[in-house]
Amino acid sequence: MAGNGDRQRVKGSDAPPRMEKVAEARLPTEVGEFRVIGFQDVTTGREYIVLAKGELSPNRPCLVRIHSQCLTGDVFHSIKCDCGRQLRRAMELIEQEGAGVLIYQQQEGRGIGLLNKIRAYELQDQGFDTVEANLRLGFAPDERSYEDCVAILRALGIHRVRLLSNNPHKIAALRKAGLCIVERVPLEVEPTEETVTYLRTKKEKLGHLLSFV
Ligand SMILES: [Zn+2]
Repeated sequence: MAGNGDRQRVKGSDAPPRMEKVAEARLPTEVGEFRVIGFQDVTTGREYIVLAKGELSPNRPCLVRIHSQCLTGDVFHSIKCDCGRQLRRAMELIEQEGAGVLIYQQQEGRGIGLLNKIRAYELQDQGFDTVEANLRLGFAPDERSYEDCVAILRALGIHRVRLLSNNPHKIAALRKAGLCIVERVPLEVEPTEETVTYLRTKKEKLGHLLSFV
C-alpha cells in the first residue's frame, strides 16, 4: 500500500505501461465471491489489485469500477468522504450483475499520497475545502492518471466498458487513454451530514455528476 509514490509514473511522459499478471485467487467477501487478481507494472513496479467476477467477454461491454484507494474511507470507514461506501456499492453492483471488474488504484488522496492527504485534512479542519486544501499544498485538485488502468483492462481482454463513475473528468481521461466507454453507470450513495459539504465541493468545483447534493 505504501512506497509506490517515489516510482510513480509521470503523467504522459512514459511509454505505455506494460502490465504483468502476477497471481489470481478466489476471494469470498461479505458481498459475494470474486476473483482477486494481482498485476504489476513491469517498468515502475507499481502493484494493482483487481476484483473480477463472472465471464469477461471481449464481445460484451463489461461493468467496470476504477476505485482510487482511500485508506481512511476504505479501511477505517471514515464518513468524511463517500469512498468506503462507494467501494462497497460498486462490489454489490458487480455481484448483482454477475460479471464485472473493480480496479483498486493506489492513488491515495486523488494522487497526492497518504500523508499529504492527512495534511489536506488538517487544512480542511481549519476551514478549507478539499480542492483549496490540495492547491495550498501545491498540488492540482486531481493528480490521478489512468493509463495503468487502461493497460490492465486490455490485459484482461476488456475493450468496451460500462463505467461506474460520477466523474466526467475520469471518463474523459480514460477515453483519451484509449478506452471505449459505451455507458456511464452512476455510482451514488446517499450523502450524510458529514459528507454533504465534501460532495457539494466535488459537484461544484470538480464537475461530478451528483443528483443528491
Ligand atoms: Zn475518501
